[in-house]
Amino acid sequence: MTKTIDDINKKIAQGTAVVFTAAEFKRRIADGEMITAADVDVVTTGTFGVMSGTFAVMHILVAPPGSFRQAENVWLNGVPAIPGPCPNEGLGSVDLIVYGTSQAGRTYGGGHLFRDLVEGKEVNVEVESAGKRFSRMVTLADMGLARLMTTRSAFKNYLAVVNTGPDPVRTIFAVNGLAGPYTGATVSGCGDINPLQNDPGMNVIGVGTRLLLNGGVGYIMGTGTRSTPQKPNISAFADMKFMVPEMMGGFVTSLGPECMTSVAIPVPVLDDAILNSLLVTNDRIPLPVADVRDRVPFASATYADVWDGTDPVITFSPESCLRCKTCAAAAVCPTGALDPEQGIDTLLCVNCGACVRECVGGACSGNLGCLSFDNRNIPVILRQSDRARALRLCEELKKRILERRFMLTEKTEDLV
Ligand code: SF4
Ligand code: SF4
Repeated sequence: MTKTIDDINKKIAQGTAVVFTAAEFKRRIADGEMITAADVDVVTTGTFGVMSGTFAVMHILVAPPGSFRQAENVWLNGVPAIPGPCPNEGLGSVDLIVYGTSQAGRTYGGGHLFRDLVEGKEVNVEVESAGKRFSRMVTLADMGLARLMTTRSAFKNYLAVVNTGPDPVRTIFAVNGLAGPYTGATVSGCGDINPLQNDPGMNVIGVGTRLLLNGGVGYIMGTGTRSTPQKPNISAFADMKFMVPEMMGGFVTSLGPECMTSVAIPVPVLDDAILNSLLVTNDRIPLPVADVRDRVPFASATYADVWDGTDPVITFSPESCLRCKTCAAAAVCPTGALDPEQGIDTLLCVNCGACVRECVGGACSGNLGCLSFDNRNIPVILRQSDRARALRLCEELKKRILERRFMLTEKTEDLV
């Protein structure tokens, strides 16, 4: 049985395409259902997590033409941006690049800025030129262009990080320093619903593949930085004006703000070989374990330790809350989602689990699992990927395909 993407797009247009999310597909297989390539057309895959390699390109009108010759420095809500490359000489506007990891302070950075813009909030743009400052409040709608790009995302089996030494280490992989030795692991990656995990040969995912980046339609540009055949990733872009706030944002680590992004990719089931790749499950996906100091893997667990039999969603129980004078759980929350009076704001919470370990009364709860390797059992203390959100993104992509609002594209080149 072989199909083409054109065949599948015709079925989408006719409303007859059969679409499963990756989790749904694997559940049906686990339940004993016999599924061949003739029975399913598309499987939607996704991932959501901290992704440092994210930046945005923007064009913003700041002042009337002639007000300044060329921007020398630019800030957006205090987040430093890089003016250019086009100088826009004398136009009163600025082209700029802003990194998702740029910081305006301890708790606000590029990732927060991107989400604020997508939420429709006004942000302050400030330009410095020839010793003078020009500023203006702008929204995303005011910008001529706002395009978000990733330099590497959707890594196939990423990393777990532990501290093998005795002294705590401040790191982007922890929210308040990673204690050692071997006291806890922080993990990244959504396991068997990750796009590249489901097309490991990159047979159908390639340059030009249409996807959802932060919930907005975008495309794959190629592989990203640090991509290897064994551990590939992608770089992608999309228009910020169509993104969804809940599918992106900022995340505060012990080294300051980081950026979260999400990716959902449809896998067209063209033949049985592609279908076989979709059978991968968490227990068959290695999770390399590295020391936080050099990030060189020295052992391997599997994604079953992180996502099978654990709780993808962290919950708050008001009746168990002791109303502590200072809430230790809220203090470590990397997204500001927890307020002991209000509970957990599910639009902000990324189910990282940091609050579970800190909560004195057990009001915050969820089983984060335990990594098993080399006769050790290391508790997971932080998840920097939110599988629950990635599952919702897979559902969203499935919905758009079934509603004929998302057609598949043929890759134009292989990812190498
Ligand atoms: S799981 Fe807890 S610490 Fe993590 S984002 Fe949600 S409320 Fe905050
Ligand atoms: S630490 Fe836990 S018990 Fe104490 S106020 Fe915070 S949520 Fe409530």
